[in-house]
Amino acid sequence: MEIKRIPLGDIQVNCYLVAGESGALLIDPGFFAPEIEEFLNENAGKERLILLTHAHYDHIGAAERLREATDVKIAVGEYENSFLSDPDVNLSRMFGYKLNPFSADILLKDGETLQVGDICAGVMHTPGHTSGGVSFLIGNILFSGDTLFYHSIGRTDFPTGDYGVLSKTVKKLYELDGNTAVLSGHGPETTIAEEKNNNPYIR
Ligand SMILES: [Zn+2]
Repeated sequence: MEIKRIPLGDIQVNCYLVAGESGALLIDPGFFAPEIEEFLNENAGKERLILLTHAHYDHIGAAERLREATDVKIAVGEYENSFLSDPDVNLSRMFGYKLNPFSADILLKDGETLQVGDICAGVMHTPGHTSGGVSFLIGNILFSGDTLFYHSIGRTDFPTGDYGVLSKTVKKLYELDGNTAVLSGHGPETTIAEEKNNNPYIR
């Protein structure tokens, strides 16, 4: 399996391109870039899926355009889907970003396992940054969205955010194997052990 991280837009959201032998995932296409559309086209012979960790505009901005161009379906947490079309919750209004409302094709449930070709992705409901956010566990790699960052955590002052809930969620993530790599929605990669021992926000 090959993973590529492409920071997109002014906000440098981490978009992840995950390619297996017979499956390909695009995680959080927040802004359009030709290379992410190319990635989906290059992998057209494989099963493909666009995954969204949560509905903030900087993680979803190019999803609808890519679905139209490539016919690849979009998956998001079941409690997050309505936010894709809510400019107040997805923050597109606050940040003055034009985003057409859309809906995902697949609604993900906590604890389910997605099989996309040879890629097996566990879905974890990880609320707190937003109420319906999810993280994806592929082998020993966690795609944490804006739940957990290197030495930081997601903001909880946006609509549906809740620090108490996020704190519980992150403590649940700390129960994962310490060697689990954490690939976040922004910034550098880290590990569960590193955060468990050194994250200044949640210990
Ligand atoms: Zn966010």
